[in-house]
Amino acid sequence: MLDELEAGLIALDAGHLRRRRRVVSSPQAARLEVDGKHLLNFCGNDYLGLANDVRLRVAVQAGVEAYGVGSGASHLVCGHQLPHEQLEQQFAAWLGLPAALGFATGYMANLGVITALMGRGDAVFADKLNHASLNDACVLSRADFRRFAHNDLAALEHLLAASTARRKLIAVDAVYSMDGDMAPLPALLALAERYDAWLYVDDAHGFGVLGGGRGSLAHWGLRSPRLIYLATLGKAAGVAGALVAAETAVIEWLINKAHTAIYTTAAPAAIAQAACASLSVMAAEGWRRERLQAHIAQLREGLRASRYALLPSESAIQPIVVSNSEQALRLSQQLWERGIWVAAIRPPTVATARLRVTLSATHETTDVAALLAALLELVGN
Ligand SMILES: *Cc1c(COP(=O)(O)O)cnc(C)c1O
Repeated sequence: MLDELEAGLIALDAGHLRRRRRVVSSPQAARLEVDGKHLLNFCGNDYLGLANDVRLRVAVQAGVEAYGVGSGASHLVCGHQLPHEQLEQQFAAWLGLPAALGFATGYMANLGVITALMGRGDAVFADKLNHASLNDACVLSRADFRRFAHNDLAALEHLLAASTARRKLIAVDAVYSMDGDMAPLPALLALAERYDAWLYVDDAHGFGVLGGGRGSLAHWGLRSPRLIYLATLGKAAGVAGALVAAETAVIEWLINKAHTAIYTTAAPAAIAQAACASLSVMAAEGWRRERLQAHIAQLREGLRASRYALLPSESAIQPIVVSNSEQALRLSQQLWERGIWVAAIRPPTVATARLRVTLSATHETTDVAALLAALLELVGN
């Protein structure tokens, strides 16, 4: 087996697909210390700049003082502490949804929810560009797993019309993590209603950013008992964890059946305490979203007349599509040498290699200008 793995790693190298980790020795911010260098950071998901916010730090410290470090057990045994409960209630109240359930990560939430709701004889209809955690969840659920071309409503309707499954669920990312574009949620909900399906919305990249911070359902003005909504707390919220909101019966079912909430130790209460603080900051500080929007506009305007191919994204995720993995790696390396960190995203994460530029409220206008100048210098115009 070792020989096989060694050969596999050599093949990854040859295809420019080998991944390596960099060690960051500073908090998340517009500038990171990496391998002794200070780099401008355009690859994180800390869209609002809360990952190192002083109020969240204080909340964690107070949480540790009050509840210690470890939660001691799973939620159903004795690990469900007051901050976990408060977080679920604060979140459901802010979004105006009936009930919510916390998970330790978004990945675990997707696995837990889909497998608890769907099984053999059911069918999941999933966008081709959905996050890997949703795809894994669908496979694990043993439901019939049908994927439709990205944002192709006609293809989805075709699949729904042909389905004889007992229970149907449409699963999408609200904002696509590697493309930055949005799912047409109103049209998807209309299809869910027409074909008696559930609509599962993974809002990892919309929560905190869209809809005054309340995310994609608020952005589109959607309410329906068919909706199951996932917000993750590791991106714009700057913490860790995830919350699922839906009708009370759905949440009660998940409390009883979602393995990734049941058979795992609850996240530290201090983390939930920080998440509560983050929700309050996100609700109160609209200027963070305004700053982010200004940076998005600045980047798009700055590359509009260039040879770079931006995707049609209005979100904090602004990918630049390149010809192949080698070019993506080379551009990323050249930016790195200029003190700028942009991740090269390659297959199998995406079908077409790209630089995934992400923007944050922590950036300054001059930071975005520095990125633009470096990109334009590299393309030669
Ligand atoms: C990041 C992400 C997840 C996973 O969330 P974690 O909390 O990081 O585990 C799920 N879905 C999408 C679309 C994501 O981008």
